[in-house]
Amino acid sequence: LRVTFTPLQHDSGKKGGIIAVLQDVTEQQRLEQQRREFVANVSHELRTPLTTIKSYVEALLDGAVEEPELSNRFLRVTMSETERMIRLVNDLLQLSRFDSQGVRLHCKDVDANQLLRYAVDRISLFGEQQGVQLSLDIQETLPEVYIDKDAINQVLDNLLSNAIKYTPAGGSVVLRAYANRHQKRVYISIADTGIGIPSRDLKRIFERFYRVDKARSRGQGGTGLGLAIARELVQAHGAEIEITSELNQGTTVTFWVPYAKGGKAG
Ligand code: ADP
Repeated sequence: LRVTFTPLQHDSGKKGGIIAVLQDVTEQQRLEQQRREFVANVSHELRTPLTTIKSYVEALLDGAVEEPELSNRFLRVTMSETERMIRLVNDLLQLSRFDSQGVRLHCKDVDANQLLRYAVDRISLFGEQQGVQLSLDIQETLPEVYIDKDAINQVLDNLLSNAIKYTPAGGSVVLRAYANRHQKRVYISIADTGIGIPSRDLKRIFERFYRVDKARSRGQGGTGLGLAIARELVQAHGAEIEITSELNQGTTVTFWVPYAKGGKAG
């Protein structure tokens, strides 16, 4: 609490009374603290790949370049770390745009059935590569939804790629959807049979850079920003996103999107 006193002075020059202003600065301090942590996180996240790249380039300059197999491996690591840094900077730019301008959506009526089928198609190769079985489960034909298609595609891509990344080979991922006629919402969930998230981490998992296992996330090419971006995009639709998880059992992320305005129920 910050308290400022200003003595009152009458026109006559006579002093009389005091104005006391009580200001709650805890919120201000909290924001300042968050900002500092964020800058520290960004610096650290950029330094890690840069250090890796530097050491591989040094090794190449020190002679590894003469050995084709070795130099190939080193260059691949350099490439993937560079790609991850580009993803990180792009994610950061997107979040900083959200912070400064808010999330700008261009909503239209969209066929939810097709949207989800395409999302599965886009990610299916990654699923195959990781040995994770992917399926789509839509009970009845879904109604049209009123969404920004690019935004919801990004949400689906982030959530599906997480589900695959954090599920060991042999596991499965199911994309489910159902319409709630009363609420005029289509609920979409992505459930995996993967490593899960400890319950103590769950409530913070949507925060920027919050990760259960940083090394594992980076090893998978992660930036720690995917869930934060997904939440911003869902909330910009006036909707909600939640996560439930059981360690070593799996994780389910659920969000909803609104029916199209003229909403023919499917
Ligand atoms: P990342 O780039 O690290 O995947 P995200 O913001 O997408 O960043 O996710 C944040 C963290 O949440 C991940 O690092 C991981 O610890 C955890 N996580 C997200 N999705 C899952 C999932 N399906 N299963 C297990 N852990 C997950």
